[in-house]
Amino acid sequence: MSLKDVQRTFQPASQTELRPNGAIAMAADTTTCLIIGGGLAGLMAAVTLQRRGLHPIVLDKGYGIGGRLASRRVRSNRGNIGLFDYGAQQFTVGTPTFQSWVDDWLQQGIVRTWSQGFADATGGFRQSDHPHYCGVVSNRAIAQHLAQTLEIHQPQQVTRLDWQGEQWVAYTESAQTFSGDVALLTPPLPQTLGLLALSHIPIPDDVAPRLQIVTYAPCIAVLALLAQESAIPAPGGLYLNGEPLQWLASNSQKGISPGGYGVTLHGGPRFSQAYWEADNAAIAAHLIAAAQPWLNAPVMAHHVHRWKYSQPLQRFGDAFTQINRPGPLFLAGDAFAPEAAASTLEGAALSGLAAARAIADAYR
Ligand SMILES: Cc1cc2nc3c(=O)[nH]c(=O)nc-3n(C[C@H](O)[C@H](O)[C@H](O)COP(=O)(O)OP(=O)(O)OC[C@H]3O[C@@H](n4cnc5c(N)ncnc54)[C@H](O)[C@@H]3O)c2cc1C
Repeated sequence: MSLKDVQRTFQPASQTELRPNGAIAMAADTTTCLIIGGGLAGLMAAVTLQRRGLHPIVLDKGYGIGGRLASRRVRSNRGNIGLFDYGAQQFTVGTPTFQSWVDDWLQQGIVRTWSQGFADATGGFRQSDHPHYCGVVSNRAIAQHLAQTLEIHQPQQVTRLDWQGEQWVAYTESAQTFSGDVALLTPPLPQTLGLLALSHIPIPDDVAPRLQIVTYAPCIAVLALLAQESAIPAPGGLYLNGEPLQWLASNSQKGISPGGYGVTLHGGPRFSQAYWEADNAAIAAHLIAAAQPWLNAPVMAHHVHRWKYSQPLQRFGDAFTQINRPGPLFLAGDAFAPEAAASTLEGAALSGLAAARAIADAYR
């Protein structure tokens, strides 16, 4: 990004007023919202703010958009290419709010119903009350769809946030700065708290204990490209007992990987914790051996990915939280999933939407 582009991201400061009850009142001239994190929560918030007439700027440290809506290719030395969803696998819907977005994505061919349940290790089938949805092209493509109309800067890892007069200034690892009237932070909560600590932004006493107890399960993923179709039962997803494997998915049966038989292996939380520091070869060997009964074919190539924060083990309890000092700052993401969310992805979406509505209402 050129210096000119950087300068363009600086918006004139709007008039912010902190009312005695903590509510924010702001003139609605050119309100810019800095959104840190381009996962589902951040993107849905950004689209909503844009629709409400604000100017969202999304900063994400990754090269690809989507955060844990993650998909990538693995190529064998024979030239086969498998496409893998290796973060979120599928999602269910429990609220009319998220259903309306999903219906729109269904209509536009962005998502489809993958199944009404999946096989398990006993040879049975866990029938579900809800449809399980997935991206038609890939799960990352859902994020790419949302990102189409947005101003997104990446890879931009925010290392510090500073309230300067009337604006937030985000400093990034590549020595760039972005500013906005309000900030919304959507990384996994421990990363958000780390950023606030580095930025010397105090967390109010009434929310600090509830934020600090949120922890996440780690998950090591192995992306295994096979020589032929696996023996994972239709429709291509398999719940396992949790350790060392919790989930297997055939990306070819899922329909996203016509060019290669790619199986996503997700290690359980105890395995992932115990093998976190192990080398990739040892991790792959262990999980591939455990998956052998369902792989049914030699592995031609593989890739290992460590998710330090895969899914929250506890939820914060409210759909977002708001910090008003030193400036208007909102926290959202999957740790803030409301009760009604039927899946973690829906929780992230509902949290981003709730935070965006609150911001848009405050800045109307
Ligand atoms: C292995 C795995 C399997 C899963 N399976 C499922 C499933 O089947 N169903 C389901 O519903 N959910 C599943 N989930 C959970 C689901 O993926 C998440 O709940 C959801 O994607 C979280 O979205 P988010 O926007 O809250 O966070 P994220 O997607 O993590 O987005 C946060 C973004 O913040 C960025 N970021 C972090 N720090 C900074 C910084 N300092 N500066 C700039 N950017 C930063 C990150 O790069 C990231 O893109 C799974 C997750 C994993 C990892």
